[in-house]
Amino acid sequence: MSNANKTYDVVIIGGGPGGYVAAIRAGQLGLHVALVEKESTLGGVCLNWGCIPTKALLKNAEVLAYMQDAARWGIAFDNLRVDWGAAISRSRQVVKRLTTGVASLMKKNKVDVYSDEAELDTATSILLKKSGQKLSTKNIIIATGSSANTFGFAVDGKRVITSNEAVVIKDVPKRILIMGAGAVGTEFASIFRTYGSDVTLIEMLGHILPPEDDEIADLLAKEFTRQGVKLLMSTKVESITPSDTGVTVQVTAPDGAKTLEGDVILLAAGRSPNSKGLGLEKVGVKVERGFIVSDGQQRTNVPGIYAIGDVTKPPLLAHKAMREGEIAAEVIAGRSPKPLDINLIPHPTYCTPQVASIGLTEQQAKAQGFKIKIGRFPYRAIGKALAINEYEGQVKLVIEEQYGEILGAHIIGPDATEGIHEIGLAKSAELTTAEVSQAIHAHPTLAEAMGEAALAVDGHAIHI
Ligand code: FAD
Repeated sequence: MSNANKTYDVVIIGGGPGGYVAAIRAGQLGLHVALVEKESTLGGVCLNWGCIPTKALLKNAEVLAYMQDAARWGIAFDNLRVDWGAAISRSRQVVKRLTTGVASLMKKNKVDVYSDEAELDTATSILLKKSGQKLSTKNIIIATGSSANTFGFAVDGKRVITSNEAVVIKDVPKRILIMGAGAVGTEFASIFRTYGSDVTLIEMLGHILPPEDDEIADLLAKEFTRQGVKLLMSTKVESITPSDTGVTVQVTAPDGAKTLEGDVILLAAGRSPNSKGLGLEKVGVKVERGFIVSDGQQRTNVPGIYAIGDVTKPPLLAHKAMREGEIAAEVIAGRSPKPLDINLIPHPTYCTPQVASIGLTEQQAKAQGFKIKIGRFPYRAIGKALAINEYEGQVKLVIEEQYGEILGAHIIGPDATEGIHEIGLAKSAELTTAEVSQAIHAHPTLAEAMGEAALAVDGHAIHI
């Protein structure tokens, strides 16, 4: 595309959920927008390699789990066969549909898309590395995202893989070692375990899903163990040696050094911001531990340069990137959007059973000096959960004792990643458990557990 003489209001670097949402919002606000993406499709990690393909594969795993348990539902068949390749192609079709959709949203919002790698030339000029073209602009939004941490281990794409390879892996590995028991690690554990892999989750910190409430993590650990996922917590991967037939991994566990064997090891222990090679030093953009420093309106220290999404600060979540994209676009258009409140960002994990949380854990609330009350309600006392045979888990609310402020909500159980939004809305409207329990929850629904947990804070839960 030749726009040599044009000056944009904003050039966005990176077409992931942060960048493409910023582009749409900026277009809606009448700005002249360019988006530069170095990969062949828009959508970033989320649509191409992360959120979407994993959720599609998790759905396949859920359907397979139903088939494996068919007798419970009074269904019998002979010779259950599994076509992993078909699961991968379904997930790639979903990806394609969404990334094509994003491309048409760019057209609809009159965003000029450049398929190139961008570097900051000055604070008002972007160099496109492949074409050599320069784009003049009044503002820049950096939305370059993050990449999997590899800790210096060589990724060969065969024996040593990241999530990028895992979402298109040709065969289900017989034995998979997963380094990192966070959201990415546990989701792949659920997918591969259901497809019959021998799965070992290796986590350096003390519990599975390290950022989550201890009690919820313990419940997930119990459930994973029941499903046959092996858990090695407080265990550090020291070395990885791939061979033609598999991979040998040396770890240090609390009870000493161990050697683990697998067909594949998946490196799923966190992600690093993509802030190198962007020319940030040249322009003087401040970076701390690799993350671009930005304020509540996504401004960096250099006027006219904004940063959003994974490249700016944790949590590394698509919906956080999207909201930051909207904020940056609105600020550039002269509006004053509310800064993103980190306590209002839901944390979803789509493993089986699902886990979702918002706000403070019990441990964080206590450490911050809050006097708290806890409301818990188990799904085994919820009719809908029994009806659908998914009754493991609970809702846990962390409430400030004096004024009843909802400090945090933690769910493990069916559709936790959907249910969490009730508390998200309640928290953002500064409601208390009184309003949550008074809201009428349809019967029978999983949402009843939320109303009951709100009542349980003061010992008034009805169904237990
Ligand atoms: P990205 O999505 O990383 O996009 C950045 C884009 O910038 C990329 O397309 C990249 O090619 C491009 N780029 C980088 N440098 C340049 C350059 N110099 N020039 C041009 N283009 C450039 N989050 C959730 O909220 N829910 C989930 O369920 C979820 N599941 C996940 C599962 C997995 C396996 C993984 C790995 C991540 C998951 N995430 C999930 C995290 C989510 O993918 C990220 O938080 C999200 O993609 C961040 O969006 P972003 O726009 O900041 O960056």
